Amino acid sequence: MENYEALLDRALNKIPDIVTEKSRFVVPIPKVFSEGRTTILDNFGDIADVLNRDTDTFLKFLLQELGTAGKIDGGRAVFQGNFSSDVIKSQIEDYVEEYVICSECRRPDTHLIKSERILMLRCDACGGHRPVKKRRIRTETKKELQEGETYEVRIDAIGSKGDGIAKMNKYTIFIPNVSKGSIVKAKIKKISGTLAFAELVEQS
Ligand SMILES: [Zn+2]
Repeated sequence: MENYEALLDRALNKIPDIVTEKSRFVVPIPKVFSEGRTTILDNFGDIADVLNRDTDTFLKFLLQELGTAGKIDGGRAVFQGNFSSDVIKSQIEDYVEEYVICSECRRPDTHLIKSERILMLRCDACGGHRPVKKRRIRTETKKELQEGETYEVRIDAIGSKGDGIAKMNKYTIFIPNVSKGSIVKAKIKKISGTLAFAELVEQS
């Protein structure tokens, strides 16, 4: 005759483990490498797929955060300048937190909608929604301009002396012989504090 404890043991052993069915949401580890003066995010398309986000808006976010220009090249993203994989990874994490994950149920099954010109994140799992925060500019992670380097900038205004004025990160860049609204490639000749003086390389 078995005792009570033995029976209990047997009974407990027959109870199957409670299986928690959590949908697996794993953002691929960014594959980042340098190619000359550009940085390649090799699995950009795969990451956008997992996040279920449009590649154009995802790229736009990264460019804004990195303070650089870039483009999509097949499944890859190409950024002007050199960025470490840690920097890219942390920008992607920020994007996921702000543009993908529901802050109520922490699930990634969400989509973005524009409501009254405000970008909202709506959750398909719990119905929760919240506005997507405008990113604060984090200048400390943005790279410094360097003399002798060429940057792609947009001419926002023409100054009183006729030079084009572009803004990049904390810098105001002066470039002669350009027209307002154009995107130009400019080579930095001299930097003085947050003022930079450049020459036109190419006007598109
Ligand atoms: Zn939710």
